[in-house]
Amino acid sequence: MSRACSICTHRDRHAIDRALVSGTANRRVAAHCGVNEASVRRHAARHLPGALVKASVVEEVARADDLLGLAHRLQREALAVLEQAKADGNLAGVLQAIDRLQKGTVLLANLLAAQAPSGAATFADLARLATQRQDRHAP
Ligand SMILES: [Zn+2]
Repeated sequence: MSRACSICTHRDRHAIDRALVSGTANRRVAAHCGVNEASVRRHAARHLPGALVKASVVEEVARADDLLGLAHRLQREALAVLEQAKADGNLAGVLQAIDRLQKGTVLLANLLAAQAPSGAATFADLARLATQRQDRHAP
């Protein structure tokens, strides 16, 4: 029998999820919350998208939307940084922003795939979902 995830049962779980979605390193999250890094890594890989699948309870839906909204906001910020770095001719900054955007894109794809109704996860469906979400989270 498998042991319960120490992050899922952690009293700061929502804060931990938010930190992970924000791209905070597993090591930092682990140190900050007094848990081990392997647990954080396992939780991020196995349970973070799962939390979004279980979004049938109202509170969970609000939380899932919150995480998705945060991920979208961070993508917009990274895009603004990319444009600024380009304008400044800051090539290192351009590469850093691109790296951030790539990671954010993978995260968004995972979050959207986790939220998509089963059997509906075609690329077109995900793109439509992403557009709907973005509209909802537009400032
Ligand atoms: Zn977990």
